[in-house]
This record gives sequence, structure tokens and C-alpha cells, in this order.
Amino acid sequence: MKYEIRQAGVKGLGLFAKSPIARGTRILSERPLLAIRQDQEVDGIFSATKSLTQNDRKALLDLSGHSGGQSLEFARWMQVVWWNVKSLVRSVRHPSTFTSSIPSPRSMREHMTIFNVFRSNSFDLGGGGSIQQAVFDNVARINHSCLPNAQGNFHSTLGRFNVHALRDIKSGEEVTLNYLPELGSLAASRGSKLQEGYGFDCDCPACDLTTARGKAGEERRAEERKRIKEFAATVEKNAEGMDAELRMTKRFIKLFEAEGITGREVASMYFEVAKLNVKLGRHDEALRCAEKGLELDQYCIGFDHPTYENGVEFITALKSKA
Ligand SMILES: [Zn+2]
Repeated sequence: MKYEIRQAGVKGLGLFAKSPIARGTRILSERPLLAIRQDQEVDGIFSATKSLTQNDRKALLDLSGHSGGQSLEFARWMQVVWWNVKSLVRSVRHPSTFTSSIPSPRSMREHMTIFNVFRSNSFDLGGGGSIQQAVFDNVARINHSCLPNAQGNFHSTLGRFNVHALRDIKSGEEVTLNYLPELGSLAASRGSKLQEGYGFDCDCPACDLTTARGKAGEERRAEERKRIKEFAATVEKNAEGMDAELRMTKRFIKLFEAEGITGREVASMYFEVAKLNVKLGRHDEALRCAEKGLELDQYCIGFDHPTYENGVEFITALKSKA
């Protein structure tokens, strides 16, 4: 085991490296405790809990759930009540199951807990696979940083969520993930999303605006956001749209690299730039960018990931054309 779960101060539990972890290491690989499909809403969460084993149910209820403030809490209660009402209607239609499925206040409360746990701990798996959102037992223990040292990506063929080290992690260092999609957002906007969705304030180096490091990052982010707004406003009438898009994407890569962000989001941007270069007939530059993207993918998703294999295919096709 490369890690241990222990107290992380005010953050509650956290996941820590037990020995040095090299960049690219698959720190953990987990099957979902609870998952919902793309076409499922709240019903999916509750019906999925029915098939949980006793141990998995306990593991799920042990995770912390953030209610998300009063208005959100009310909305969640409404969904819980609605689900229970539907079960009641079903049980009336099928009287043989009536007694066992009458919702009790205890089960409603438990549903509410499960709902909060799911909303606070689930990861969006994306990629258009059959599973859309899921909770993972140990992954859920990993705390947030806007400048994470690890990244989780779902491996659809394995049906597992893999967490990889984005850089070398020292023994005893806490392993962190970014709970938010990296969009170059400013500290205040990240802060309110984290507070609303998870109920905590981030104290990572990017959020500490009292330091030179924090201030410099914030200025870079503000500058790029200003540029992307200008770009968005002119993109329609811009004659050299593709060139502008290419320049913009490259600027964002630079921003992320200056912040020390090296995950899949940056790899995918390198592939975007590569594709734009192909369209512009610049094959050498396309190959250089794609190879850079693949190098990042090697660390953040691993050689066995379908996306990595796509990257290899893309590069092979580029080389055959050269
Ligand atoms: Zn932060």
C-alpha cells in the first residue's frame, strides 16, 4: 500500500503518501461503491443503494456529506420525499411488498445522508460511458487542492477510477485532487463553488492571495480570462479563426504550466493544438504538440488507458503522413 488514510487537521480525514511516490504512479484504482447512469437522476442513487452489501452501505454512510446550505438542503429533501412517495405508490400497487416499503422517517433521513454523501463525494466520469457519476470509497478520502499533486480518471474498460501522481510526491505528503474542472477560474469563484458544493475554504497556494506566489497566479488567471472573453467576442467575425483559437489554446497551456498544472486537461489541450496544426498544414508542429500531450497522458492516465491508445494512434497516423 502506497498510502494511508489519517487525520488531516481541520479537513477531517485525508490520504497521505506512506513512502515517496514517483510521478505517473497509479496510487489507487477503485471500483465504484455507488454509481448512477447518464439517464438516471436522484432515483438512481436511491435504487442503487438497495443493492449495496452491508459493508459497502456502511462505508458509504461513513463518508462525510455536505448539505449545501439551506436552500439546497430543502431541494434535496424534496427529492428524497418525492422518491419515498413514489415507493409508497408502487407499494400500494403491489400490496405484497407494502409493509416492507413504507418509508419510515429513519429511512428518509438515511436517504438524505446518502444523497448528501453522493453529491459531496461523487466524481463526474464523463466520456459518454454508461456510468456517469460514482462514489469511490478511498478516492472520497482525498482532499481538494486547486494545485493538486494527483489526478483521478475513470478507466472505462477496467470499470475503475484510477488516481495517478501528477508529480513526485514526498513521503508523508498529503495526496490531493482538484474537485473542480480546471477552467483557469479566479480564487473567489473557486472559493464559492467549493463552499457551496463541499462546505470548505481552500487553503492551497493558489488560493492564498497574501503570498507572492498566490498573487502572481491570480494575475495570470485574470489576464487569460480577460483574453478569452475578448476572443469569444470576436471569434464569430474573426477571419483567421483557427489561428486565433490556436493562439488562445497555447496561452492557456502556458498559464497551466506556469501554475504547475499537468493533468489530462493540459494533455487534451496539446492534442487540440495538434489537430489545429494539422488543419493548418503544419505537420511538424502538430507532431511535436501531440507527443507532448502523450507524454503528459503517460503520467496522468497511464499506458493502458483507452485515451492513451487513441493518442498513440493519432501520432502514428501523423508520422505515416509525414
Ligand atoms: Zn485552492
